[in-house]
Amino acid sequence: MITEERKAQLHKYYQDHKDDILAKQREYNEEHKEQQSLKRHERHLRNRNQDNERQREYYKTYYAKNKEELIKKAVAYHSKHKDKSCAASAKFREINNEAWRQIKQRYNSTHREEARQYSARYWREHPEVVRNWNRMRKARAKGAEGRFTQQEFERKCGVYNGRCVYCGTISELFPDHATPLSRGGRNDINNILPACADCNMEKHNKTYSEYLFRKLVDCGADRVLMESV
Ligand SMILES: [Zn+2]
Repeated sequence: MITEERKAQLHKYYQDHKDDILAKQREYNEEHKEQQSLKRHERHLRNRNQDNERQREYYKTYYAKNKEELIKKAVAYHSKHKDKSCAASAKFREINNEAWRQIKQRYNSTHREEARQYSARYWREHPEVVRNWNRMRKARAKGAEGRFTQQEFERKCGVYNGRCVYCGTISELFPDHATPLSRGGRNDINNILPACADCNMEKHNKTYSEYLFRKLVDCGADRVLMESV
């Protein structure tokens, strides 16, 4: 048991050498960053439940007290380090998928009007995401396996220099299933080609080679090919 006298001694020592102690601590922390964060994480796991309650209470009061300043700081940080900040949020969402879903759900249920406005604005500003989402839903309804992102599709368009794979025109491109879903094609990027709206519609449920051959026949190129063999 530590005596009052000893406590006072320690306290005085700390006060007298505060800067030194803190500097050493910072240095130590800097050198042992990974161990420290591992330790913190272990401690957090050990005390998860009671910690959570205590911490939540603490943050809640702290946040309520300093709300405006905190928001200002966060906005300033975000606009100064946009890439870093977005990457960190994305990583957080990826690691805490389930927790993130619950946070969103909780927010949406208490901020219905804001949530509605936010999604309306998001959908308006990102029509390509909406289209992709609709395609995924349709593909799932057809029982197709696999999925691809809008970024993957844009990369694929880049590979074809932004041209329709069938007629070569440069126009708005849509994902076309080389082997149609209705004929067992997968809904992943390996089965996706960029096609213009006309070709996409005309191809319908033909495969890539069937449609390409059809196009050759239409322009008489198949005869030229046959004759040259
Ligand atoms: Zn085309």
